[in-house]
Order: sequence, then structure tokens, then C-alpha cells
Amino acid sequence: MTTISLHAALKENFGFEKFRPNQEEIIRCILSGDDTLAIMPTGGGKSICFQLPALVQPGITVVISPLIALMKDQVDSLKANGINACYINSTQTPQEQQYLINGLQANDFKLVYLAPESLSYLDHAFSQLKISLIAIDEAHCISSWGHDFRPAYTNLGYLKNRFPTTPILALTATADKATRSDIVNQLNLVKPKIFVASFDRKNLSLEVRPALDRIKQIIDFIENKPNESGIIYCLSRKTTEELAEKLQNKGINAKAYHAGLENTTRSKVQDAFINDDCQVVCATIAFGMGIDKSNVRWVIHYNLPKNIEGYYQEIGRAGRDGLPSETILFESYGDLIQLQKFASEGSNSEIQLAKLERMKQYADALSCRRKILLSYFGELVKENCGNCDICKNPPAFFDGTIIAQKALSAISRLKESEALAVVVDFLRGSKNASIYDKEYQNLKTYGIGTDISWYDWNQYIIQLINLGYCEIAFHQQNKLKLTYLAKKVLFEGEKVKLTTVLKKEKTKVEAKKPIGKTATDSLFEILRKLRSELAKKEEVPAYVIFNDATLKQFENERPMSETEFLAIDGVGKVKLEKYGDQFINAIIAFTKNKNEKTKKEATTYKETLALIQSGLTIEEIASKRNLGQSTIASHLAKLYTDGHAIPIDKFINKEEISKINEAKIKLESPLTLKPYFDYFEEQIPYDKIRIALAVLEKTSI
Ligand code: ADP
Ligand code: ZN
Repeated sequence: MTTISLHAALKENFGFEKFRPNQEEIIRCILSGDDTLAIMPTGGGKSICFQLPALVQPGITVVISPLIALMKDQVDSLKANGINACYINSTQTPQEQQYLINGLQANDFKLVYLAPESLSYLDHAFSQLKISLIAIDEAHCISSWGHDFRPAYTNLGYLKNRFPTTPILALTATADKATRSDIVNQLNLVKPKIFVASFDRKNLSLEVRPALDRIKQIIDFIENKPNESGIIYCLSRKTTEELAEKLQNKGINAKAYHAGLENTTRSKVQDAFINDDCQVVCATIAFGMGIDKSNVRWVIHYNLPKNIEGYYQEIGRAGRDGLPSETILFESYGDLIQLQKFASEGSNSEIQLAKLERMKQYADALSCRRKILLSYFGELVKENCGNCDICKNPPAFFDGTIIAQKALSAISRLKESEALAVVVDFLRGSKNASIYDKEYQNLKTYGIGTDISWYDWNQYIIQLINLGYCEIAFHQQNKLKLTYLAKKVLFEGEKVKLTTVLKKEKTKVEAKKPIGKTATDSLFEILRKLRSELAKKEEVPAYVIFNDATLKQFENERPMSETEFLAIDGVGKVKLEKYGDQFINAIIAFTKNKNEKTKKEATTYKETLALIQSGLTIEEIASKRNLGQSTIASHLAKLYTDGHAIPIDKFINKEEISKINEAKIKLESPLTLKPYFDYFEEQIPYDKIRIALAVLEKTSI
């Protein structure tokens, strides 16, 4: 097929403007009849590699997939694009299955999805079909090296003997060499072409944070993203439930998910998440395998993962639609020790422990995290990524010898019999029971570290642990112990380099939204609601209609005609016919509304401006216009920042402005006015604060 016709088929059937890396090459390889092994990261776009050939060739494409839930999603997505597909699996009655088999024989379907277990009893039906391609998804399940071994996959080798002239496409996101050659051998692939896509997922930001206060950190994080779906991975079932409850208590729409829940509960949670009815899922790693949701905006690891493979797969569930998505890993020493214990007690302990060690090194890294991840998967990159916490805030080293000496000698004075929290209290000279009960206040070095905050002390001591100067005795109530290296610092003058502690607030400031603007009235939200209504009506996941990336483009490009609508990435012929009118109408209505609103706003501002210029006070204008004083104050602020001639000294004086400026610096530019109001103990009214901020904004430009 020519390049143009493949592109045309991609646009017409799937709505995509161009191929992702390797898709076109893989498709060409299949179309020329070759066996193919495609290795692509999660979200890389594997499905198109067999769905497109299925459409442009006569006959049927058989897709082997290990997960029943995934089959349904894929078939729903295909149908939404007007492509006839079905799945046959154990959830159906024999009658339903026979009906579908008849349909296959009558050429009604272009694709059929099957579980490997069903192959044998469908074998007779297949002899009468023209099979153009056999695609084996999650092909690593064939390998006992891999982490998802499925016995039924080992029988798939017979397919090549049974259909020697039909090309086979094996797909996986697992890259290691042993698994790769296992797939080729066991499937009897003939001189396969192998494609390995880059594992870099540039749209995922990477961040590791210390686990101090992690629940509060998580709540703050989610509160900044009111409508964004996310997954929090936890180590234990109990943690998923406790965490979900804590989030619910804060009004966050969160649910727990783990293998111990009843099947019906589990699938309810999964469906609610897929349909955007549940915002956050707190889950064990059992969650996510069968989920194709493309708009997961963030993934948090509440606990340290066991290995980098698992971690990368889990964060890979964020941002499949290619939009920027965030990932955060919380690192705690307690987790590490627990995982070490599990690993050393389980089978293959040496390998598991080594993998865990690599995970820990990643979390402790002081250089670009993406480089470390990719090099783990055998990909070497030269440039730093610019989208991980290290690249964004490179650690600054300083001479921490004195801090180290203070901390280590405190541990020694406390006879190595206290845990981290008490050591910090001791250093900071705290006057609490854990100190007084044991009369620690009388020991030398008590209170020698009052100049450093509690949070920072914790961080420094954790760095000292990472550097090997001290360690946590987890089997003795987490007491801090010195190692032989401590001596060098305490008695032999060894210098210690520490890195500055990043302030937690930093990340918060990044996420700030402009005062007064809420996300709920944006075009994106309006379109999201429309999508969700349509999805409910059709009983499919929302992203099957359009994914977030497509909605974002609607918002930015505002297509108002069919031609413009079709030009958006993600809109194919069938979706244009099915949904075009409704989305276009919503976009037109929003734009009109917005224009009218802007017009109205312009008139009301003009009126206020005239009155200000005629010398009236805010109070007088408010009563004359029958509007609230705060409304007039906000008009005034806006008019002033827009550059209109306003006698601003009449409304606020220099002293007030400088006071509010001070507060602004101290409060680190809060998002709302309330913190200022509280800061001045309600002595400065809201109107003044608003006007002063406008003046400050103007002068800072
Ligand atoms: P994988 O199976 O590799 O994890 P999928 O096949 O589910 O990935 O694709 C991930 C996402 O990328 C889906 O939302 C899909 O619609 C989208 N996608 C795939 N190919 C393209 C493309 N060429 N252009 C734009 N989006 C694409
Ligand atoms: Zn980086």
C-alpha cells in the first residue's frame, strides 16, 4: 500500500493524523506477510499495529489477549469508530458464542478477540475462515521469565504450524532479552522482524518525595486537581482501604481496590474509574492490568515498588493519551525494610533483592531520573530530560559536616536507643514527654540543633542513612544505630556533603491557578460533561468517545464546521457523523456565550470607570449601581491593571501596599485573598487587599 493510502486509512478509521514511532513500519511488515515482534511501552500505541492491517486486508484478524476486561474495551473502541469486531470468551453462553461464530463465517467481523484458553474449542470453526493476521497481545505472558506468566500461552506455538502462511504479530511492553527470545522461539516465528520502540514517555513527569506526612501531601496534591483521574498504588490491601477512607473524609471521590474484594465490588470500582465516576483509586498492583483508560492524569506510589519493571509499568498507566501527566513516588525506609524482608524470604531471593536495590538507587538518585530508568531498559540517552524533579531542581551540595557531627553525636548520646523522631526532638531541644521522661534534657548536645527545622532534620538524617553513616534497626523499634563509618566523621575529621532540602511548598506554588478562575466553567469541562453523558447512554467508557487529548484540541482549536472538526486528531469519519453535531453545537454555544459575557462585562466596567473618574468612592458607586462593594473593588482592580487612568492613591496608600507586599512574600503568594485577611487578623478589608494586589501585580510587570 502507498504511504498516502495507509495514512488515509489511519485518519478515516481512527481519526489520527499521523503514525506514532514504529507503527507504520510494523504495519508495512505485516502487510508484506512477515512475522513481527513489536516491543513498545504501555501507551505506545500497539493496538493500531494490528487494527489497521485488519481493515485494509480481506479476511479476519484474530487477536489473542489474556484479559477479558481489555477485550471488551477494545471492541467498544473499535465499534465507536464504526469497525465491526467481537470477542468470544467464557463470559458468554454457548448460544451467544455460536451466534458470533456464524457471524465470523459470514464475514461480518474484521477482528475477533480470544483468550488463549478458548483457542482449542474454537479450532474447528477456524478451518472455514480466511485469517489474514494473528496478533498476540501481551506476548510476554508466554515466558516464565516474565512477571505475568500464563500457562495457556505456551500452547500458542501450534498456531504457526496450523496457519503457516498467516503472519503473526507478537506485541509486548516487556523489553528484556530473555523474554524476547522466548517469545520468538515458543511462537515458532519465522525470521521475525523485531521492532523496539523507545521506552521514553516524555509526557510523564517523574518525582520522588520523602514519605513524611505523605497523606497530607497526597490530599494537597489532589485538591489542586479537582477533576483529574489518578491511581495511588499501595503495598498492602489494608493501606488501600485506610487511605481511601482518609481521602473520602476530605471529600475526595476515592475508592479502594485489591484482590481481596469481592468480584462484583472490584468490577464496580473499576467501571466507576473508567467512566470518570470515581476520581481516585487506591489500589494494590492488581489494579490496572486490564485497564485501557487513556486519561489517567497522575499515578502516585504510596509505597516503594519492588522493582523498576513494575514501577515503570505502573506509572505507564498515566497519560496514555500523550498529554502531560504526573507521577510521584514516596520513599520511606520502613517500606524498604519490609520489602527486603519479603524478597529475602521468597523464591529467587538474590535476584529480587538486587532488583529492589536498583529501585532504591533510583529513588535516592541525584541525577536525571529518566536517564536512570531508560538505561535500566538498555536505552542510553545523552541529554537530561528536564521533566523530572532532579532536572527541575538540581540538588545543591554543601558542606554538611557540622550537621552530620551533631546528628551522629546525638545518636551516640542517646545510646543508640531512640528512633528518628526522638533524635530530632533531642537535637531541637523539644520539651515533650519523650525527652523529659528519660531526662534527656540533661545530656550534653541536647538542643544543639534548634536552628534547623524538624522537617529538615529528618531529611538530613535520612541522607546520612543513605550515605551509610547510620542505619535504622527495624527489628528493634526502629532505633537509630551508628555504623563504623560514623567514627570517621566524629573522630577522624571526615567531611560530609549533604544536599539542600527542597521546600515542600515549592511544588504547591507550581500548581497554582489564577485567583477567581475555576476550571468548572471551561470549555473543556463542558465538553467533558457532554462526553460523559454520551458514554453513559452508549454504555461505553468515556474515552472511547473521544480521549482527553482530542477534547483539549477541541478546546484550543474551537472547530465550528464539519471540515474543521474532522481536522482534529482523534476524529475519524464515523465519529464525525456520530458526534460532530453535538460537539460543534456545544463549542458554538460556548463561544457565543463567552462573547456576550465579554461584551456585557465591557459595558459594566465602562460604567464603573466613568463613576470612578467622576470622583466617587467605592461605597457610593456600589449604591448607585446597586452592586456589591466587592464587585466594584474587583472592577477597580481590573481597570487599574488594564492600564486605565485611575486615581489609585484615593483608594489605597503606600503604607498599606507595602504591608500587603510583605504579607505576600511571607505567605508565598497564596491563591486566594483569605490568607491575607487572616494574616492581618481581619484588620485590612478584602477590598483593600484586592486593590493592593492589583497595584503590586502592575508594578511587578
Ligand atoms: P498500548 O496498547 O501500546 O498501551 P494503545 O494501543 O492502547 O497503547 O494506545 C494508547 C493511546 O494512544 C490510545 O488512546 C490510542 O487511541 C492512542 N493512539 C494510538 N496511536 C495513535 C496515533 N497514531 N496518533 C494519536 N494517538 C494514538
Ligand atoms: Zn530528568
